[in-house]
Amino acid sequence: MEYWVRRALEVTKTPFLLFDLSVVEKKFLEMKAALKGADIYYAVKANSHPRILSLLAKLGCNFDVASKGEIEKLLALGISGKRMSFGNTIKKEEDIAFAYKNGIRLFAVDSEMEIEKVAISAPGSRIFVRIATDGSDADWPLSRKFGTDPDHALDLLFYAAKMKLIPAGVSFHVGSQNLNPESWRKAISVAGKIFKKAMRSGLNLFLLNVGGGFPVQHRKPIPTMEEIGRVIEEAIDENLWFVHGLKLISEPGRYMVGEAGWLVTKVLLKSERNGEKWVYLDAGVFHGLAETMQNFEYEVRVLGKENDELEEYHLAGPTCDSVDVIYDRILLPKTITLNDLVCFVNAGAYTVEYNTYFNGIEPPKMVFVEELTEISLEEKMKASLL
Ligand SMILES: *Cc1c(COP(=O)(O)O)cnc(C)c1O
Repeated sequence: MEYWVRRALEVTKTPFLLFDLSVVEKKFLEMKAALKGADIYYAVKANSHPRILSLLAKLGCNFDVASKGEIEKLLALGISGKRMSFGNTIKKEEDIAFAYKNGIRLFAVDSEMEIEKVAISAPGSRIFVRIATDGSDADWPLSRKFGTDPDHALDLLFYAAKMKLIPAGVSFHVGSQNLNPESWRKAISVAGKIFKKAMRSGLNLFLLNVGGGFPVQHRKPIPTMEEIGRVIEEAIDENLWFVHGLKLISEPGRYMVGEAGWLVTKVLLKSERNGEKWVYLDAGVFHGLAETMQNFEYEVRVLGKENDELEEYHLAGPTCDSVDVIYDRILLPKTITLNDLVCFVNAGAYTVEYNTYFNGIEPPKMVFVEELTEISLEEKMKASLL
């Protein structure tokens, strides 16, 4: 990747997200192999660049969307609504109607009112109920705001049936960047109990959505997709063996794109105040690094200075807002200085999606390794013509 950073700098300025599409393909195929028979719905919000969406569509991936805007992006690429699920449990009514009109028939809910909204604007659709998980072992928990308890989930599935929707099954999200495969086992065992109770009352559920949360390599060791897949398979055998024709779905976001991208930034300033050292970059929490606000830990590399002696810094972004601090304490090379390149490794997910133009500062754009290859081919052709 360092080579491509240098190549990218010949055609663009920092900050940028250098992205390698071949990694996305590799990740998709790894998940396909690890979750046999599953339909994969890429969570578009992780990175919605058209090149990524087109590649995944070509590979046979489906898409989990959160809004009309995401649906429109996919439709513009010729991707049918039949390949989308509407996984956001907090939907605008007009977005539900738009989704329905464009062929989406699969919706997530975790409340009565959401079922009523879907019943009115997307009649007869399939419904899955999101259950809450505790989000432990996740670096970015997603449970406080979403999901409900098992008894309520069961009530909701019956309510959906009463509202002439198709109660399809259960979904959960173990929390983003979850490092413990056992989290999936726990959640599947809860789902199993709901399926069993539903069946006893004459409701045959058939859909299990194991969500996202599959981790990306950052600073801590992570389980492989294969290991997580094995746990999911075991848990299904153990808890859902009685379901005939069980349909398995996953909704990876971070996993699919995280390792495909490096966020490349530059040092704008180094200073020392009250005995503390600060380094300021041309990107910060408003320009791609939003997740560091909750202390999401990237591996940070200062190119060419990997072997230099380290010392402690505050690392901050370029805006006039004091929230714009990336890390309060981080070890960086003592020699770090103006114009050094600082790379956030495996930052392909949830970076450019959060971009703002705050302070009139341009957010990082995406640069594709594939584009750079095309440019170098073009150059070679030109050279050979001369
Ligand atoms: C964000 C989200 C995902 C993807 O989560 P990751 O942790 O990025 O894999 C999946 N499903 C739903 C409903 C989401 O909101």
